[in-house]
Amino acid sequence: MAVSEEWRQQWIEAVSKIRSNVSYEESAQQLRSLQQTGLLKLTDLKYNPGKFFEAHRLLARHAPNLGPGFWIRFTVHYNLFAGSVLAVGNEQQVKQLEEIQQKGFLGCFGLTEKLAGVNSGGVVNTIAEWDDQTQEFVITSPEVGAQKNWISQGLVGELAVVVADLRVAGKRCGAHAFLMELRDAKGPVPNVEFGDMGRKTVGNDLDNAWIAFHGARVPRHTLLSRYGDVQPGNGGTYVSKVKGLTNMAMIGQRLFSGRVAVAWAALTFTRKLFEMTRAYSDHKKCWIPKNSTLTEVPQLQHLYLRADETLKKLENFVGSCEKQLSDCLQKDEIPPMALQEAIASAKILASETSIDLCFRLKQDVGSHALMGDTGFEQMDFLQACKFAEGDSRILMQKLARDRVRISSPLGSSFLD
Ligand SMILES: Cc1cc2nc3c(=O)[nH]c(=O)nc-3n(C[C@H](O)[C@H](O)[C@H](O)COP(=O)(O)OP(=O)(O)OC[C@H]3O[C@@H](n4cnc5c(N)ncnc54)[C@H](O)[C@@H]3O)c2cc1C
Repeated sequence: MAVSEEWRQQWIEAVSKIRSNVSYEESAQQLRSLQQTGLLKLTDLKYNPGKFFEAHRLLARHAPNLGPGFWIRFTVHYNLFAGSVLAVGNEQQVKQLEEIQQKGFLGCFGLTEKLAGVNSGGVVNTIAEWDDQTQEFVITSPEVGAQKNWISQGLVGELAVVVADLRVAGKRCGAHAFLMELRDAKGPVPNVEFGDMGRKTVGNDLDNAWIAFHGARVPRHTLLSRYGDVQPGNGGTYVSKVKGLTNMAMIGQRLFSGRVAVAWAALTFTRKLFEMTRAYSDHKKCWIPKNSTLTEVPQLQHLYLRADETLKKLENFVGSCEKQLSDCLQKDEIPPMALQEAIASAKILASETSIDLCFRLKQDVGSHALMGDTGFEQMDFLQACKFAEGDSRILMQKLARDRVRISSPLGSSFLD
């Protein structure tokens, strides 16, 4: 579904008010207000993915000025938090998103653990043990390595989707997601400890937390239970609702929309940084050896051309991934393997090429790149793109592994 020009203008106007030279509490307040405008619904990822991606793209155009803080806060809330509820929540849980949006509540996504780092999701050591007596889950970080790490808006969010290894009657049921409260009007909920990750190179308007669970009790309805649930009685029984589909595989679906959004963010940042730099170099007088502009210096001229061609190709590629993924999201289908691979490749290519182009630009534009408010000071935005929703190296390893798995053994075509 295409977005209307009227909506676009309203969204552009709304995001133009975002500031990053504010405290993380004020930054969180900006997101609360933005979601309360209702311009982008927490359910748009499924029902209007075109709007969801365009909203991300238009926000990313501000990244060379704002840095990564607000963009990450925004995508964590809309894609990772709300998107996980959409992907693995039951009807009731998905309905809750409306109320969350109206109240201006913010949600975190608690996947990464200290030990797991870039392998998070594959490694989940947080435990959610079913207590049949009280019909609650008891969430625990059994060791420091299992504590959640880097959780965006973890110091302000009222809610979180927390991924933990479910245990029912002593049996391991694998990673599951829980929609739990982190704070109420009185402050943090009992038995959950929070710490600040500390000062970052950029994006300090975003709070990043480590979170330790010390036997936090959450009710049965917090388990996002579209694909699996726990039946109380006799110690409890795990019930898988859809054969062949695991909860974790469905949580992983969020990574596909996240990867497309991150790929766009990297390309949009790069386009904007090149635009801003070009506006400067077009007017900067330079002697080469006759009076000219900096833009006409051969290496810069060539870089502008190369960047434009490369970005065009990648924008087409990511755009095509977005179109096909949007179809799957609306039909509630898992993207076919070829599309999953294309999305992973798009995310790697967009981040790595952007890092390369922006670094080259920084080397070739001279002292301008050292000045504040030029966009160059926010280049670590691209660093975040590199590891968000699947680190480039880990994704490349996965693509290579999958390729090896599907290829037939040498000589097998000669066998009957
Ligand atoms: C600003 C910010 C916001 C974030 N927000 C969230 C959030 O809201 N929710 C959430 O769950 N997570 C979040 N994360 C976590 C993020 O998604 C990554 O999982 C995390 O940053 C991993 O970082 P690490 O350096 O600890 O990883 P490490 O695992 O220590 O990896 C460090 C480096 O080693 C390499 N490496 C590690 N293991 C391997 C291996 N097996 N093979 C080859 N290379 C390897 C990687 O390529 C990587 O470059 C956030 C991170 C940041 C910085």
